[in-house]
Amino acid sequence: MKVFQFNGGRIGVTVGAQSYDLTEALHVDTQAWPPVQMVQFIANIDHNMPGILTHALTKKIDVTTVHLNVPISWPNKLLAFPVNYLAHGVEMKSINRADLNGFFLKANSSLSGPNDAIVLPDLPGREIHHECELGIVIGKGGRHISREDAYKHVFGYACLIDMVVRGKEERVMRKSYDTFCPFGPWITTSDEVPDPGNLQTRLWVNDELRQDANTKDLIVDIPGMIEQCSKVATLYPGDIIAAGTPAGVGPVQRGDRVRIEIQHVGEMTLIVK
Ligand code: MN
Repeated sequence: MKVFQFNGGRIGVTVGAQSYDLTEALHVDTQAWPPVQMVQFIANIDHNMPGILTHALTKKIDVTTVHLNVPISWPNKLLAFPVNYLAHGVEMKSINRADLNGFFLKANSSLSGPNDAIVLPDLPGREIHHECELGIVIGKGGRHISREDAYKHVFGYACLIDMVVRGKEERVMRKSYDTFCPFGPWITTSDEVPDPGNLQTRLWVNDELRQDANTKDLIVDIPGMIEQCSKVATLYPGDIIAAGTPAGVGPVQRGDRVRIEIQHVGEMTLIVK
């Protein structure tokens, strides 16, 4: 199943070839503040899903005609792993490694959707880079989650671009500009991803392939990331973990088109403004 938000706070799913609008059937308040509709949907999915597709208020929709929004706009946490592919550490001449240094946080408000532009801040002379990453969405929360149980806590996966201003300021600031975390275009639930530890991830700028790697080369794998994050903090439904970027990061300019594609998960193209 693919789960998405559209037309401003509406909740939809795609099952097989058919998409559905669940907003009325689930009594979703599209105007709610904070906009936690998707977090609530994920948290209550086991209760909500049985029978929902045939509910009288569920509508069939054509997903190609709706305006997709960021699938999760207000998670409890957006966690991210630094150097989690050896080749990226080499290209950055970094002494950091995800297995030694752990994770960091990005501002939740940096999340943006598949139809939103990446808006570059006005920082003359500074390089602003793309990082192509797998986004892992937590389903069932928990603390001290073991490697063995980790996949039971994953709701699904999405494409994620960790944008960053290169430089010496605090990392959380350089990565937290609005629109610096394109995420989407939907969440593909884990049952539709045959092997999350073997996903080809690619990113193009205009038509140039910049990043092309496989999650089998992650230094800290998906169960390892969930184990490490949950040792520190309770994970909640809808929390997002950015898995770290492979080699091939590089600058973007206004007017560029950035395309990210993750096997079995999805693809989306963002305009840089
Ligand atoms: Mn990153």
